[in-house]
Formats: sequence, structure tokens, C-alpha cells
Amino acid sequence: MSKEMVLQRYFGHETFRPGQETLIDGILAGRDAMGIMPTGGGKSLCYQIPALLMPGVTLVISPLISLMKDQVAALNGVGIPAAFLNSSLDEEAFRTVCRQIRQGMHKLIYVAPERLFQEGFLALVRGLTIPLVAVDEAHCISQWGQDFRPSYLKITEFVDQLPQRPVVAAFTATATRAVQQDIRQRLALRDPVTVVTGFDRPNLYFGVYRPEQKRSLLLSLVEERRGKSGIIYCSTRARVEGVCDQLCRRGIPATRYHAGLEEEERRRNQDDFQFDRKPIMVATNAFGMGIDKSNVSYVIHYNMPKSLEAYYQEAGRAGRDGEPAECLLLFGPGDVETARYFIQNGGENEELTEEERAQVQAQDTRRLEAMVGYCRTTGCLRAYLLDYFGQGHPDRCDNCSNCRSQVIQTDITRQAQMILSCVKRIRDKLGYYVGSGLVSAVLRGSRAQRVLDLGLDSLSTYGLLKGTSENGMRRYLEVLREKGCLYTEPEHNTLRLTPQAGEVLFRGAKVTMTVVRALDTAPSSAAKETRADGPMDSGLMEALKATRLRLARLEGVPVYVIFSNATLADMARRMPQSREEFLSISGVGEKKAKKYAAAFLETLRQGAEEEE
Ligand code: ADP
Repeated sequence: MSKEMVLQRYFGHETFRPGQETLIDGILAGRDAMGIMPTGGGKSLCYQIPALLMPGVTLVISPLISLMKDQVAALNGVGIPAAFLNSSLDEEAFRTVCRQIRQGMHKLIYVAPERLFQEGFLALVRGLTIPLVAVDEAHCISQWGQDFRPSYLKITEFVDQLPQRPVVAAFTATATRAVQQDIRQRLALRDPVTVVTGFDRPNLYFGVYRPEQKRSLLLSLVEERRGKSGIIYCSTRARVEGVCDQLCRRGIPATRYHAGLEEEERRRNQDDFQFDRKPIMVATNAFGMGIDKSNVSYVIHYNMPKSLEAYYQEAGRAGRDGEPAECLLLFGPGDVETARYFIQNGGENEELTEEERAQVQAQDTRRLEAMVGYCRTTGCLRAYLLDYFGQGHPDRCDNCSNCRSQVIQTDITRQAQMILSCVKRIRDKLGYYVGSGLVSAVLRGSRAQRVLDLGLDSLSTYGLLKGTSENGMRRYLEVLREKGCLYTEPEHNTLRLTPQAGEVLFRGAKVTMTVVRALDTAPSSAAKETRADGPMDSGLMEALKATRLRLARLEGVPVYVIFSNATLADMARRMPQSREEFLSISGVGEKKAKKYAAAFLETLRQGAEEEE
């Protein structure tokens, strides 16, 4: 069988995506391989197709125990015999699978890295023909990447113990050069065929908000997207709890996930989400590496993550089916502090030396700055991201909140003068400088005890900016710092005037601030058209989804294991009427056609009748 035949017969796709063919050909020719593709780019096929075409059984090393089950179910669903070995199996199930493997029943085995050296497993694999070891989420081998997993470092040792060295193929969505280099070295890849595809995901809309009130904005964003599946990422467990409770009180079907929950609950909640019983997941970043739920149509970051790598990976869980999807980030100044705190205190990795730890911290700080830059930029967000990942791009994408907003320069000279003279008056009155919080309180006319005790309510600048919110004040101070009129003296953390302040106070220098006004937050029509080959009937789409849900419940698998949204959309557009026509739908292979054609053709027929 040729690779094209496998693609069509099993997976139901007509053509390969960019990069897939090169990697598959390389592996089939016996070369090591490295595939760097964005989430949803189609990495799995690159090792699944060779696995089917090579003699023996392919090992897939994957860190995601929760995912293996679904990946295996999806493979079995298209008629490919596969199994997994991980700690979720009890001893008897483990033995059964081992027996099946020995009998040659499977073409792919998914295995967790910590299992590689488990007693029995080595003995088992030494007796097998293993043409290929595929390493999924290969960036876990690098301590410079996200999600470093020491057990990945043992993969090479494992490969060396096999009677014959198999082809080793590594896959990841992490783009940075340092991580790529680390993967190549630590997996001891031999002259690998390397494919780095573009990182752009044209179907994703990127948006940054700077709300006064995150909670109320979040509620309205989620309300507006009722019926859709989404992930909301928060920086702490407590915030996950708070946000999830609030959504649930509003009758929004949300569930939660963080490392503080019992494993049993984590599994249950993840299942509720995967099976769309609760289509909204509120979670910390502990959730979702490699989540294979293709119909997630938005990812909202309630807090800013600590790097663009993390952001792009998490946000990229939206729209894996190629349909238009949104990645929204709610930015607040407090997020920078939280992220800094995590860098300084979190991520304790016992295995690192003092020196390595310092290096990691310095690197994390640089990454954080790039992330903050994303939140503050007034340029195209997609361009910013692609720049960071070292990829060329047009100046504007027309599918992000900045391209779809108006950037205006507002004159804030008057406010600037009030602020600067307030700093000066406080200094004159007290004989020393104070911190930005107190300056802000005085200008906003606060009745806080400290203000009154110091008699600052008697200053002529007291209450001059009464209507300005705390966030608004922070923004003004930020602008004045950027313009060099103010600086924070680091030792006492006090706000001080620079000589430049005199230009504004006495010599008429103007101060302006960039304000972004949203024109429209919905994904642009350009994105909506990325997949549309023809008009689509949304009522019919709903009916097809209902049929899919019914079948998924019957089989006890997540809906996307039956068909992806993209496949249903193709059905709704092309309205196949026979089994042959059904087979020509993208994502329908032979086994699925046999199994599901009747049910979906019936739904399409009923839909057409209702039309008439
Ligand atoms: P990754 O592992 O890179 O995140 P997946 O392998 O899960 O991505 O693939 C993402 C989606 O793209 C899946 O729904 C898959 O069916 C689809 N896909 C993969 N290859 C092709 C192809 N050649 N044509 C059409 N769809 C494809």
C-alpha cells in the first residue's frame, strides 16, 4: 500500500499537509526525523502512516497519559490496531496488552516515558521488531523549554538497549532554536530529516483586552459564546475556583482543572469537558498539554502567562479543526507581578544546580518581557507572535484586535502636569518622596487613613483626578515613566521627578498616550472564509452534531473521535447522498464510512426534506 492510499483509506484525507510528506518519506527511507509544526498541524499522521507501512510495531513515547486513551480510540476508530501502556492500566490489563503485543496484534504502542525501564517492558520490546520510535512532545527533553521532564532524558538509553536501532522521530510544537538543538542532541538524532512548518494559524483570531473589571468582561465574553466549547486559563488555583463558581452560578456549564484536585476529580472533569457534557473548562496551565479536543472554539486567558511560548501553546488549543476560533487575553497590570513572583519562587526543579537555576530565571525574565510586550503592543498581534518565533509575515493580519482597532494618540498633558506637581507638592510638604500608591490615592481624593494622617488632603492637588480609576492612574504613571518624567527609586520604591518633568511642568512640553479603540471583536470575515468552499446551512450543522453526539455516547468516546467539526462542515456544504459521495468528504476513511455513512446520510436526507 502507498502512503497516499493509507491517507485516504484510513484517515479519509485527500492530500498531505505541508511537511507531512517529507517527514513520512524520510522515515520510510530509514532516516531519523524531526517535525516542528504548530498544534493542529498534523504531526500524528507523520508517524502513524509510516507505522502502518513498516513491519513490526512502532513505539510512541508520549507524556500524556490522559490523552493516550483517546489517541488509541481514534486509531482504533479508523481501523488501526493500537494500544497504550501506562499507569492507568491495572496489572491484569497490562498483562493482556503485553500478550496482544507479543502476538503481533498492534501496529502502534503508546507508552509513557517512565514505563520504558519498567521490569517486563524491556524484556517485551527486546523480542519485538521495532522499526520506529516516535517521540511526541519532544520539547519535554529540554530544560530550556516548557514542561521539562527528566524521564525524557532516558529515551536514548532505552533506544540503545534495543537489539537494533530503530528510526527515531521527534515531534513538537515548540519553535525556539535552543529547544530544537537540545532535542537533536539529547535524543542523539542522526542527521534527521527536519521540517519546520510555518507557525501561523490563520483561523485563529488574537485579541488583547485591558479591562477595568476582568470578571464582568469574562462573563459577557462567555455569555456571547454560549453553546461553544472554550478553555479559560487562570494563573492560580484560587482564581480557577472563583471563576468557575461564578460561571456555574450563572448556569454556564463549566468545570475546572488544577493540580490541587484529587486525581479522580481531575479525570472526571476532563472527561466532562472532552465529551462536551461541560463544554467550558476553567483551568491552570496544568491542564491541556496536547489536549486533543478539536472543537475548542475559544481560549481565554484570564491572566497573562509567563512566556509567549506558553501563551501560543495554550491559546493554540483553540481551533484545531481548522474552523475560525478566538484567542483572547485579559491583561491587568497585576499579572506582571504574579508572573514575576512565579519566576522567582515557582518552578522549583530539584534536579537543577544553583547555576542552572539562575540561568533559567534570567531566561524566564526575558521571556516575560516579550510576553508583556505582546499585551502592550499597538501593532499587529499576529505579526508580533510570528516575529518572536522567527517567521516572516505581512505587516497586518486583519484578524487580531489591533488590526481591527483604531489607535489614537490622546493628549494627556493636563493630567501629566497634575500628577507631576502632586509628586512635587507631597515631597515639599513631607520632606521625602513617597510610593506611587500614595500619589495615586491623593490625586484620586482617597479618604484612606494614611492620606489623612499625613495631612495630604490639604494639598491643592488633592482629588484633582477624582474620576480616574486606579487602573487609569497606573496607566498614566506608566506613560510618564516611559517618557522619562518619573522614575521609581529602587531602594525605597519611591516615585521621583526627573529633570525631564520640568519640561512638562514649566516649559510647555506635551504628553500623549496611545489609546486603542476596538472596532469589532468578532473574527474577521477573512477568517470565516478560510474553510468555506460554499455556503453552509447552520441548522443542518446542528443536526449533524446531534447525530455525532448520539453515536459518541453510544460508543463512549469523545465526539471528535467520530468526526471533527471540519468534517461535519464539509458534509453540510457538500451534502453527499450516497456512500461513495460520503467517502469523498474530508476526514471520512473506509472504516468510518462503513460505520457511520447510514446515520449521517439519514440526517442529511431529513435536513434536505425540511428545506423543501
Ligand atoms: P498535532 O498533533 O500536530 O497537534 P494532529 O495530528 O492532532 O495535530 O492533527 C490535527 C488535525 O488535523 C486532526 O483533526 C487531523 O485529522 C487533521 N489532519 C491531519 N493531517 C491532515 C491532512 N493531510 N488533511 C486534512 N486534515 C488533516
